[in-house]
Amino acid sequence: MMQDFIYLRANTVKEALDFLEQYKDDSKIICGGQSLLILMRQGLVSPKYLIDIKHLEELNYIKFASQEGLKIGATTTHRALEKSSLIKKRYPVLVDMEKNLASIQTRNWGTIGGNLAHGDPAGDPGPVFIALNAVVKTANKERERTLPLEEFFIDFFETALEEGELLIEIQVPAIPPKTAVAYEKFNIIKNDQGVVSVAASITVDDSGIKCKDARIVLGAAAPIPKRAKESEQMLRGQKLNDRLLDRAAEKASEEAEPFADVHATEEYRKFLVKALTTKMLKKSWEQAKKLI
Ligand SMILES: Cc1cc2nc3c(=O)[nH]c(=O)nc-3n(C[C@H](O)[C@H](O)[C@H](O)COP(=O)(O)OP(=O)(O)OC[C@H]3O[C@@H](n4cnc5c(N)ncnc54)[C@H](O)[C@@H]3O)c2cc1C
Repeated sequence: MMQDFIYLRANTVKEALDFLEQYKDDSKIICGGQSLLILMRQGLVSPKYLIDIKHLEELNYIKFASQEGLKIGATTTHRALEKSSLIKKRYPVLVDMEKNLASIQTRNWGTIGGNLAHGDPAGDPGPVFIALNAVVKTANKERERTLPLEEFFIDFFETALEEGELLIEIQVPAIPPKTAVAYEKFNIIKNDQGVVSVAASITVDDSGIKCKDARIVLGAAAPIPKRAKESEQMLRGQKLNDRLLDRAAEKASEEAEPFADVHATEEYRKFLVKALTTKMLKKSWEQAKKLI
């Protein structure tokens, strides 16, 4: 059963940071509530103070500039990302990802900041944004800091957010030329979280055959979204072919650190990593060739 709490509505970022400073570990930020309320109803989290940032228009934005890339404020909803023509044009993989994230109702309420801060290893945005080389900006009362999203995830439902810190913004560099990024999850119930997911980014040279760069990120295949770095290294500087992509996918499944739960055994997760990595590498390579 949910415990009583004191509701505090923050009207500015400064006010939210003041509340966080004042109520320290007795408090919890709530934004869309799509993840937090489940934990509160189950009695797993019982904050004395709930600091609502849902209405912070200061953090509700999607901006792009060619030098700085994409900036997404933390209170931006999944639905806003899915519907953004800017995102569709410049980062189509984010629209593909968002379309299959939960139901429309959850996408209307759930925010990108809440999703990342929740630190769920099966969350969809984590692997995609890491494949896109994203950085997150956080702030507390004293200072702001940025860190690669890859370093933001620490363990199951644990992030690098420190006490008193708010996730402010996600920053994504412009996608390099001749680069395509693909993402897919395997799930049993449509629009539910993936049993395993894979994001892959391939950059090709002018011939379309040689791989200049590769990034492979596994979701729900380790306690955090995990780069398959040895697999990536097998591809960099090499001439791509189906055989090599299959071998790289095999390596990615060796690099996975899967867990067993009601959805899948460790072995099945490894199998899925291999299958999805093969598929995403082939898809991103095909798409990258079309960009020459
Ligand atoms: C039925 C259902 C299906 C779902 N399916 C999927 C799915 O397929 N894929 C997927 O990825 N997700 C899925 N989710 C999870 C959902 O996407 C996330 O719950 C949502 O994005 C979280 O955002 P929120 O604003 O609701 O966060 P909240 O629930 O408000 O907060 C979540 C956590 O983040 C913290 N927090 C929130 N914002 C900030 C901030 N700016 N700074 C610091 N801390 C913050 C809160 O304190 C809390 O710990 C599903 C959820 C439901 C209910």
